[in-house]
Amino acid sequence: MESASLVQGIKAKAEELGFDRIGITTPDEPTHYDIYQSWIKSAFHGEMEYLSNSRSQICRRNPRELLPECQSIIVLATRYANPNHFSRSLPSIQSQTNQLTTDSSSIEPFLSGKIAAYAWGKDYHHVLKKRMKMFIRAIEELCGRSLKYRVFTDSAPILERDLAQRAGLGWIGKNSCLIDPEIGSFFFLSEILLDLALPPDSPFTADHCGKCNRCVTACPTECILPNRTIDARRCIAYLTIESRTALPEPLRPALDTWIFGCDICQTVCPWNHHAINLPVIPEFQRDGGSSELNLVEILQMSEAHFNERFAESPIRRTKWQGLARNAAVALTNLAKNNPQLSGIIAEILTKVLKTHPDALVRQHIVWSLQHINSQSAKEAL
Ligand code: SF4
Ligand code: SF4
Repeated sequence: MESASLVQGIKAKAEELGFDRIGITTPDEPTHYDIYQSWIKSAFHGEMEYLSNSRSQICRRNPRELLPECQSIIVLATRYANPNHFSRSLPSIQSQTNQLTTDSSSIEPFLSGKIAAYAWGKDYHHVLKKRMKMFIRAIEELCGRSLKYRVFTDSAPILERDLAQRAGLGWIGKNSCLIDPEIGSFFFLSEILLDLALPPDSPFTADHCGKCNRCVTACPTECILPNRTIDARRCIAYLTIESRTALPEPLRPALDTWIFGCDICQTVCPWNHHAINLPVIPEFQRDGGSSELNLVEILQMSEAHFNERFAESPIRRTKWQGLARNAAVALTNLAKNNPQLSGIIAEILTKVLKTHPDALVRQHIVWSLQHINSQSAKEAL
């Protein structure tokens, strides 16, 4: 098949399979490799050693390390949320609890923590890899031969946003997300490395952030850096998901009720407010997962229950210990922002403290009791 019509066929198939955007680029060194290197040198990656080891750096510089026969990279974007679907848990807690009695059983159901939108549905690694493999079969049919390939979605040492920009999908915003002028930034990126030469798309060269600075000023931990990267050590997404140690005490109030990730720098972005309302594939829809989780349930959950409940969810990445640690901090922030709840929250935390098997979680609960202004917390301490 002639190359222009092959590309046309490939792009039509991508749309049919539910991918919202597709672009093609070459496996050459990414344009912003030097920015990634200086980010690593500055240790902004925190505990994420998999981002800084030498293999990771070599592969990020040269995608052919991942597939020596690679001639083209297809970059795909798949939307996971529409901007009008965002969690609004705190106002609902305040309005509901104002009308409730003060016994803990009536309030517990409203003590919820927020989950970043990308984790509301099924685990994107499985969902997208399955779709990409169907896509490969279709490309093989179109070009009439079997292909050597590798598929990735946030699962390989590759500079995804850089390649996506070069494949024409959008620009890297000040919040470090890739932004498409029509669909915003609430999408997953995936890559297919192929031993098939395809004509590359033109890079996306415009920067539509302009003078806007909304994400920078809205970030509660001030971790967005001037070169469009993030100091991960201060980012709520990193702290609640990747960090396996005690959360830095000065940053705990900024976590508010986020217990898995953070969407703030995306929700304030005007490009998400103006995004067109495309359907989200069923596996990522909010009804298929959780946008909020009950904090008391999390603190009472056994490790076996956690593993079973989140077996198909991205939430399992933070692990049982991490989610319970985050829940203790979220309850503290709820108590501080809603003084009428502080007595009940202190009672709940005191009960959990007596039975929780994990030392890191107990350590965070003790900190919580020290920071909740209630008689019950003082007595418990
Ligand atoms: S995810 Fe949250 S904490 Fe991280 S950069 Fe964005 S707004 Fe800041
Ligand atoms: S909020 Fe403004 S500055 Fe931040 S990424 Fe969006 S357009 Fe760019």
